[in-house]
Amino acid sequence: MAIQKMDYIWFNGQLVEWDQANIHVLSHVVHYGSSFFEGIRCYETPRGTAAFRLTTHIERLFKSARIYRTEVPYSLAQIVAAAKETARANRLRSGYIRPVVYRGFGTIGVDPTPCPVEVAVATIEWGKYLGAESQEQGVDVCVSSWNRLAPNTLPSLSKAGGNYLNSQLVKMEALRDGYSEGIVLNAQNQVSEGSGENLFVVYEGTVITPPVGASILMGITRDTVIHLLHEMGIEVREQAIPRELLYIADEIFFTGTAAEITPVRSVDRLAVGTGQRGPLTAEVQAAFFALVQGETEDRHNWLEYIAEG
Ligand code: PMP
Repeated sequence: MAIQKMDYIWFNGQLVEWDQANIHVLSHVVHYGSSFFEGIRCYETPRGTAAFRLTTHIERLFKSARIYRTEVPYSLAQIVAAAKETARANRLRSGYIRPVVYRGFGTIGVDPTPCPVEVAVATIEWGKYLGAESQEQGVDVCVSSWNRLAPNTLPSLSKAGGNYLNSQLVKMEALRDGYSEGIVLNAQNQVSEGSGENLFVVYEGTVITPPVGASILMGITRDTVIHLLHEMGIEVREQAIPRELLYIADEIFFTGTAAEITPVRSVDRLAVGTGQRGPLTAEVQAAFFALVQGETEDRHNWLEYIAEG
């Protein structure tokens, strides 16, 4: 989906015209992948537009940078405020906020520390990530021939730009072979996640998701879904998932800011359950959308209203 320009981007401390938010081609990030980023969805609610779990996302941005010993030159509160200010300036109603911290122009060597740490926040309009019908019909996925980042190589708990080279290999292969997405195995050849989504499996009444140590990103939608299931009286087991469980699962769904909650209807051309969205997936989706759209009680204060400074 091509990006539609909006009016402004927050660029190193101030709003600038969209076309003015540019960096030099010799910026460290262009050569070495030295960036950290977030994606936050905004939804229209009865009380106005709300960014879902904005502060949690910005906290993760700081943690991603910290793993790489990168000091963000703004406070958490400043970046949260910048996100809201940008959304307001662009009159975003529903869509996506993309903050990025990166190493700018300085030296050509690998060491990032001499290069300035810069920050930008953009907003864009964004619909359904895996296709318009995907959330009802489900998506067809494969198990990728690529593995996920091995432990102690590129740390997967950091949402770093460079990690997404792995995701690009996974996504391109899946699309080339006629699938919507790939499920990636980790270095132990157990299930980790999709190229940009976490994964849940329902098997004989039990809900299972790979644990934090399985080379996943600690997804904020994953956490939200664990809370929602808990509130529905269903506990989620965080445990290693062997590849073949995917082929005998009753239901599988992806979670992510972009994908929201998307059912998986087949893996490697084998139908998941009946090949249609499963009942638990539908129930979690309903609870999720009611929450993010402000239709149910926001008991965790996860809706952060854009209109409020
Ligand atoms: N895993 C990866 C690799 C991702 O890129 C994302 C998207 N940020 C997720 C999982 C889901 O995370 P979240 O629910 O926080 O968007």
